Amino acid sequence: MKYSKVLILIIVIILIAVGCMNIHKLSLTEDSFSSGANPADKDNTGNDYSGNVFNQEFYDRIYALNGQEFLNSLETSDNKKSTADKEEPDDKESPVKNTESENSKPEVSTSQENTEVPLEHLINIQNPSALNITQMSSEELIFLFSFLSHPIQGAKVSSVNGQLPNAPRTYRNGVHEGLDYYGGSCGVSVTKDTSVLAAGPGTVIRADHGFLEMTQAEYDEAIQISKSSAITPEDLLDKFRGMQIWIQHEHGIITRYAHLDSIDSSIQVGTVVQKGQKIGNTGNTGTRESVQGSGSGIHLHFEIWLNGSFLGKGKSVSTVRNIYSQALK
Ligand SMILES: [Zn+2]
Repeated sequence: MKYSKVLILIIVIILIAVGCMNIHKLSLTEDSFSSGANPADKDNTGNDYSGNVFNQEFYDRIYALNGQEFLNSLETSDNKKSTADKEEPDDKESPVKNTESENSKPEVSTSQENTEVPLEHLINIQNPSALNITQMSSEELIFLFSFLSHPIQGAKVSSVNGQLPNAPRTYRNGVHEGLDYYGGSCGVSVTKDTSVLAAGPGTVIRADHGFLEMTQAEYDEAIQISKSSAITPEDLLDKFRGMQIWIQHEHGIITRYAHLDSIDSSIQVGTVVQKGQKIGNTGNTGTRESVQGSGSGIHLHFEIWLNGSFLGKGKSVSTVRNIYSQALK
């Protein structure tokens, strides 16, 4: 009986031992499944599904879902991750794009400025004989004549409207074709000692070295003929301008300097002059005062011509003042 109890005990121990071995075997199987050694345990990105934390998640998921649902969950998860990977750079690129957009604004602006046609191309300077300065805008005229400067040092456009081009001259039925520089209204004093300067580089085409003033009778007759005419005849108007110098400039532009008291001996027809070069002195020749032998009324009468029109012809006082003030500097 004692041996039988011992045998039963041994059998029970053996059964217990076998049971423990089975349990351990099952445990080993689960461990090997979760070891991560299987290539299927790696996702598309190559990340190894290993580690205790992931293993617990993996088990939770595989146990909660059937096979297809698990694969779908992996795919969905990967898509989300992939989307997140794409969205993140997009968010980062967004300010870059904005920066580029902001940076591109000045380029666009510059491009627009560059696309504007330069003024010199709007004016057909290649064919200057076709230029009609009575039809050109103030901007174009200022551009075209900006190479000129005032013919008296330090002077500016007269403050008196009647001394501007296009002002009426009723005493001779005509218009004023030039700009007058009187002391007091042009900003500097003007006397017989005042130098007259070439307004721009050019060639002298007229220099009245042999000028003879009109007699009183000649002057009165000229005024009488002018008053009875529709407009001052050109030959008489030329007498009213007194002693003159004319200079031919680029594009056929001509400047006239009138009422001179004297002309420098070096200034002859054909003489090439530079801008600012002294060509004579101011006076009052061709005027009533000069004819009467008076020394009053000294001033320079300065004209700018192109293709038969003086600068300012037909324009308002304010427009003329603006053009001359902007062009002559
Ligand atoms: Zn004048």
